[in-house]
Order: sequence, then structure tokens, then C-alpha cells
Amino acid sequence: MSSSQSTIPVAKPVLGEEEAEAARRVILSGWVTQGPEVAAFEKEFAAFVGTEHACAVSNCTTALHLALMAVGVGSGDEVITVSHSFIATANAVRYCDAVPVFVDIEADGYNIDPGLIETAITPRTKAILCVHQLGMPCDLRSIVEIGKRHSIPVIEDAACATGSEILWKGRWEKIGKPHGDIACFSFHPRKVVTTGDGGMLTTANPDYDRKFRLWRQHGMSVTDAVRHGSKQVIFEDYDELGYNYRMTDLQAAVGRVQLRRLPELVAQRRKFALQYCEGLSTIPGLSIPAEPAWARSNWQSFCVRLSDEIDQRAVMQALLDQGISTRRGVMNIHLEGAYCDQSSHRAATSLARSISAQQQTIILPLYAQMTEVDIVRVVEALRQALADVSTGRVVRQPEQDVVHA
Ligand SMILES: *Cc1c(COP(=O)(O)O)cnc(C)c1O
Repeated sequence: MSSSQSTIPVAKPVLGEEEAEAARRVILSGWVTQGPEVAAFEKEFAAFVGTEHACAVSNCTTALHLALMAVGVGSGDEVITVSHSFIATANAVRYCDAVPVFVDIEADGYNIDPGLIETAITPRTKAILCVHQLGMPCDLRSIVEIGKRHSIPVIEDAACATGSEILWKGRWEKIGKPHGDIACFSFHPRKVVTTGDGGMLTTANPDYDRKFRLWRQHGMSVTDAVRHGSKQVIFEDYDELGYNYRMTDLQAAVGRVQLRRLPELVAQRRKFALQYCEGLSTIPGLSIPAEPAWARSNWQSFCVRLSDEIDQRAVMQALLDQGISTRRGVMNIHLEGAYCDQSSHRAATSLARSISAQQQTIILPLYAQMTEVDIVRVVEALRQALADVSTGRVVRQPEQDVVHA
């Protein structure tokens, strides 16, 4: 790496004075946990995705847990999902003492293959948990149809998909409307907008929304905010087991600023993704991601696929040597130690595509503060790295575990 060139990280949150000011306002207000800012953020998020109800929680993992509970997933039930996802997708199923049932991804993308879902359905199937992986909408039209046909609720793991869109009955709609029964979002710093940590559940079903609100706050019948604002003494009840899955007002205030930035952030990411596609299209043996005609990704991650014989690790190392940080493609949950107990999950189909996607894909840097010059630098470094690795100018790296980030 030449010393004049700065390092390009794989991702970077956009946080500035406005977010700092929002946090300051909350700190000085004296009300810092779930309160007026959370309520306002929920309202604004609901309006943004075009839904009735949005309920803020501590992160997307807790959102997934509450969503699964709301549709009635319990002990011994099965939930159809993918192994090719972040581990939280399946962990949330296990929190319900249920079994994640894995099916493979599509041949030409990184989302669940709807054609495999029906083979995985059993009398114990209580939900389909589909993922909009890397921000790219999955084939919701097919999935929702299968759910309807079998009376199985559809939950969307939309952790990566804030600001992504899908063509629905001739109109472009935001992911999270939701098109399934419930959608769950993440505001982790690795996602397109962040509150440090944070999550959101959206639904059109008021009963689900009421449950989320009860469970996120210890099952408490009356919220702190209501008790605090009341002229009467109120005693609360706890009739159901609840959790502390609250988002704080500090986070929500930051989230409101992030939400206002979101359209511009997505537009910027889409511009860079297009530039990547154009630049990378001339590199032989490299597959670039394609948007189906009915999907608009927020490009939370831009994932390229190497041909079979190319050593992924060597390419990533060659890029890192040029000051360009990348990540291996999406993990396979069933290959992790936490899933080595065979009773923890079930594979309903071959997971060969999921595994090869993990082995052959690389996530390239993409964040709003990048410049077109940075994109060109990544494209050219990748072109060079692939040439070097395929001609053997770079030797194969010894096998060792890549640290996840
Ligand atoms: C990030 C992510 C999650 C977890 O989100 P948190 O807010 O960190 O709990 C779940 N599913 C997918 C697909 C993710 O990418």
C-alpha cells in the first residue's frame, strides 16, 4: 500500500453533528429511556415504510424473538428459514425453544429459494422466516403466496433492508409495509442507518403490535411514560412473562435523524453500486450481483462472486495489502459450533448453494462517504488481485479462521 493512500474500510456509519445534537437534547431533557423520542421515531418509521404499526426494540434479534412469539411459535415447533444468514436469524427461533428448518438459497442470488419451501413444511411448521439478505429483497410474492396457501405466517428478517423496495401489485413499496405478517429491522452500525444498537417491528396487525409493546417492557400493563404523566396513582400489573427489550430515547433521537438521512444514503449507495457493476463487468470470471426487475436494494452490502478455482482468502489478502478491507460472504449458521448438536436444527434440503456462496463471495467496501475515486480504486485492485491469484503470482494462504465482523 502506498503511504499516500488511505485505507478503505468495508463499511462506515454516517453520524454527525445532528445526531450528536439529538443525543444531547435527550440527555438534557432528563428522560433517557423509552419515552417521547421512541414514540416519535416509531411514528416516523411507520410513515416511512407505509405501515400502521411500528414498535421499537433494543435490536433486531429481540425483534425477531418477539415476532416469532407473536405468531405463536413455541416449544418443539418448526420455523422454515435459511442457514445462509447472520446467526441471529436462527438463534431467535431457538429462543422460542423451536427448531430452525434450513432450506437452500437460490442458484442466482443470496436469498431463500421459494421453490424449496414447500418440501420443508410439516404439521409442526409455525412460521416462515425469510431474510432480505444484504439488503436485497427476497421473492416475497412467492413466499407470501406459499404462506397463505398453508396458513403459515411469514416473518421478514429485514435487518439489512431499511430503505429497500419491492414492486408490489404494480407499485414500488418499502420493505416493512410489511408484505408478510411482521418485518424486523436492525439499526446496528453495520446496517444502512444506526442507533448504535436498535431494532424495529412493523406490522398491520394491532394485536401483534399490542403484544410487542407488552413484552418489550417486562409484560408491564402500564408504561413508565403513562404512569409518569398521570394525575392519578396507577398500579401496574404483570400478567405475562415479559422482557426488557426497550430502545432508549437516546437511541431513538439519533434514529430520527438517521431516518431523515436515509433516502439520500440509499440514493448514494445505489449510485456507487451501479458504478461498481459497470466497473466490475469487464473483469473476467467475476459475477456481480443483479437486482431482479421487482426489487430495489439499499445495497447494504455489495457482494461479488469469484469463480470456483479462485482462492477467496488470497484475493481478500491481496486487497487488504492494497489497503482495502473486505469481508467474506454471508455465513452458514448450520456450520457453526452453536449448531453442531443435531437436535438444534434440521436441514430440509441440500445446503450446497449456501455453502458455496460463503466460500466464493466477497463483500466489497460500500458506504456513503466513499468517493467515485475510491470505487475505481477498489475495482482496479480487485482486477489486479484476481489476475495475480489466478496466475499463481500470489501463493495460497494457509487455512485459518477469518475473524467475523
Ligand atoms: C444484523 C442482522 C441481524 C441482527 O441484528 P441486531 O440488530 O444486531 O440484533 C439479524 N439478521 C440479519 C440478517 C442481520 O444481518
